[in-house]
Amino acid sequence: MSFQAIVIDKDENARYRAELRPLSDQALPEGDVTVGVQYSTINYKDGLAITGKAPVVRKFPLVAGIDFSGVVEQSSHPAWKPGDRVILNGWGVGESHSGGLSQLARVKGDWLVPLPDGLNARQAMAIGTAGYTAMLCVMALERHGLKPHDGDILVTGASGGVGTIAISLLSKLGFRVLASTGRTAEADFLKQLGAAEVIDRAELSSPGKPLGKERWAGVVDSVGSHTLANACAGTRYRGAVAACGLAQGMDFPGSVAPFILRGVTLYGIDSVMAPKPLRREAWMRLARDLDLAKLEALTHEVTLGEAIKAAEDILAGRIRGRVVVDVSRG
Ligand code: NDP
Repeated sequence: MSFQAIVIDKDENARYRAELRPLSDQALPEGDVTVGVQYSTINYKDGLAITGKAPVVRKFPLVAGIDFSGVVEQSSHPAWKPGDRVILNGWGVGESHSGGLSQLARVKGDWLVPLPDGLNARQAMAIGTAGYTAMLCVMALERHGLKPHDGDILVTGASGGVGTIAISLLSKLGFRVLASTGRTAEADFLKQLGAAEVIDRAELSSPGKPLGKERWAGVVDSVGSHTLANACAGTRYRGAVAACGLAQGMDFPGSVAPFILRGVTLYGIDSVMAPKPLRREAWMRLARDLDLAKLEALTHEVTLGEAIKAAEDILAGRIRGRVVVDVSRG
């Protein structure tokens, strides 16, 4: 059987390239479940993998795509049977195991989670790894004990995938959200998603003081670098920061002052190896707590063939919200 996929490979001159290519099912990797993929997405990490801007891909050739939703076609795993509707995020898929920007995928059944009631395959990938990571961040702030009356929540990288879904979730949960963006022209859009206030990311992206005015009770940060350091410095006494991203940089040029003088807690959020019960909880919560009309408003759809251009666009900061990939359209 032949199917279409975005394949990342190195040519005879070791030049990195990604292209839409037909593959036969013999090219599928090892695994006990074969899934007919319906939708995938372009996350920031897919952008890095497809363009080769960071060493995300560790095996060549490899089908790109760190997530997908679809229907089980074959299974020798006890938990799954043909017809089951499933989601996959992470576990090294799209990095060291062929991934979801494809019409067919083969993975370990242990990596799959069921599509929760209330979401269809397209909505699941409109959420994608970015949205599921936003939910993991929100859950970390909730576990810390933060409640809407404790104060504002800062969301950085607000126009991006993690940012837009975090704003939508937090506002539906009753929090007052401060959205930090470099795209202030998107202020109205961010307010429609639920931001109470929009600030220019320039306020946070340069070197700052070890401690600043206490401005927010919690933070969802997908940006890292000086932005994360300043976000910690502006967090209220005993507040919490959930750090999941590095869009500005991987460095963390801050001080311990917020932690030792204000009792601020910094939570690291990893979606790739997150344990299964946490994943299931996050997906159930997304089905319950995300406003699907807002999800649609922050999503646009591309074909499998257009996914390569979308990968370049996400790294250039040209994507607003989320990109869902309809893999049935080549
Ligand atoms: P997006 O590109 O959709 O969003 C990132 C946003 O960050 C941009 O939209 C932009 O927001 C802001 N940004 C970009 N460049 C800069 C910069 N130089 N300085 C300050 N802000 C910047 O990506 P995603 O939402 O998909 O992912 C966000 C981050 O989270 C990435 O680093 C990604 O790798 C990470 N991530 C981590 C996961 C984990 O498991 N820990 C899982 C998923 C994502 P604006 O235009 O509004 O300023």
